[in-house]
Amino acid sequence: MHKGELKPKFIGCLVGAAIGDGLGAQREGRGMAKEEAIDSLAEKLVELTYTDDTHMIIGVAESLIECKGFDGEHMAQAFIRNYESEPWRGYGPGPPMIFRMIKSGEPWYSAGAKLYKGGSFGNGSAMRAAPIGLLYFRDLEKLREIAYKSSAITHSHELGKEGAVLQAYAIALALNTPSNGEINRESFLLRLQNFAQNHLYKEKMGRIKRLLGEQDSAKVVILLGNGIEAPRSVPTAIYCFLKQPRSYKDSVLYAISLGGDTDTIASMAGAISGAYLGIEAIPQEWKAKLENEAYIEALAEELWQLATD
Ligand SMILES: [Mg+2]
Repeated sequence: MHKGELKPKFIGCLVGAAIGDGLGAQREGRGMAKEEAIDSLAEKLVELTYTDDTHMIIGVAESLIECKGFDGEHMAQAFIRNYESEPWRGYGPGPPMIFRMIKSGEPWYSAGAKLYKGGSFGNGSAMRAAPIGLLYFRDLEKLREIAYKSSAITHSHELGKEGAVLQAYAIALALNTPSNGEINRESFLLRLQNFAQNHLYKEKMGRIKRLLGEQDSAKVVILLGNGIEAPRSVPTAIYCFLKQPRSYKDSVLYAISLGGDTDTIASMAGAISGAYLGIEAIPQEWKAKLENEAYIEALAEELWQLATD
């Protein structure tokens, strides 16, 4: 793909993630809802305020740009700096404790595993993986390596790290698929399934395929999940994208309609959809309401320069 064609896709990915987060945050932890109701909720909002999901995407992007690649210590410090300046972004209990440990001398690669025996398998590292999918979209083994390492700052369990890898890989696949062409959903899933190294994720990719025509959302929640665990949310986000790949709006509204960890699932679905369709596919009225939209676009543009030079 030509460098110029990739630019709107890079911007669509990060802006798409932030809007999904901001809109999904309105329904976080709640039950299922009708998509029309969420759409009218969006209409009434004056501003789309993002949460920890986007705040950490920003930290990942800032660190990758400043270092022109991954530096674990630098990324951990970017997380800490951002958290300390805006601690009210809705962070879970784990990251702030890890940040304190790192500040008092614990290395970035061991704090997470020290706090949780065996490491955390929450979706906190998958939710911030978008910039990794963007920067390493042409080097998929590097993408895997960096997604693993950056996950380990907070989520060192295999299922947590693998969730980050799959989210980054789904973004790379979406980026590599021309937005004007039809997406082959089965081959998209097959590639994810082959890239996954963990059996639970491989099995979930098979479930997504069987659910593609499913009308019953409750069944989707039962079989894929809508929780804060990476294996119960990353596959769900991929499903929300693949169910309606031609519409950013429908993917995000559907993700929120499933209830549960709506900000993170809608953010991850929005990142994949935006990477496929590009920024033009995101409703202008939503984009206009997004907090710090210009800064998020600027980070996406810098990642685009770095990834395509
Ligand atoms: Mg959040």
